[in-house]
Amino acid sequence: MPSFVIVEKCDGCKGQDKTACMYICPNDLMLLDKDGSMGYGEMKAFNQDPSMCWECYNCVKICPQQAIDCRGYADFVPMGASVVPLRGSSDIMWTVKFRDGSVKRFKFPIRTTAEGAAEPLGGYDEGSGDINSMELMTEPKSCGQDTLPTI
Ligand code: SF4
Ligand code: SF4
Repeated sequence: MPSFVIVEKCDGCKGQDKTACMYICPNDLMLLDKDGSMGYGEMKAFNQDPSMCWECYNCVKICPQQAIDCRGYADFVPMGASVVPLRGSSDIMWTVKFRDGSVKRFKFPIRTTAEGAAEPLGGYDEGSGDINSMELMTEPKSCGQDTLPTI
């Protein structure tokens, strides 16, 4: 089921021009009803086309108010379970509540570098730099090889 906004919790990201959910959606689906004229309530976000939602959970994870929900698909939780992510600076905690009321929590690291930092090459050198080479950037070292096998 596509994402939906729990209007009681949404604060419109406190009136910023681009809300967190608008910023993160890869399909540009989230919109903010600034003055309520679209029928969703003043300063409330909404998913403008649920049929195009990939259920990727990005908006659910980034919302600072935990105001977006999305039903977990059956390949990772049984039908009817709720799946709530809580994002920290170095990890994310998933809370799954099953229909029988039992709860399980899973915590996963989400970074290998400090928050705000990135290491594009992952510690490897660029590789040959030859555009005509079959090797991708950082190969062959990032494949654990000194040279890639050839036919
Ligand atoms: S990120 Fe959350 S609080 Fe901000 S506008 Fe979207 S639903 Fe509302
Ligand atoms: S679940 Fe993904 S595709 Fe759907 S509205 Fe949220 S960010 Fe966009």
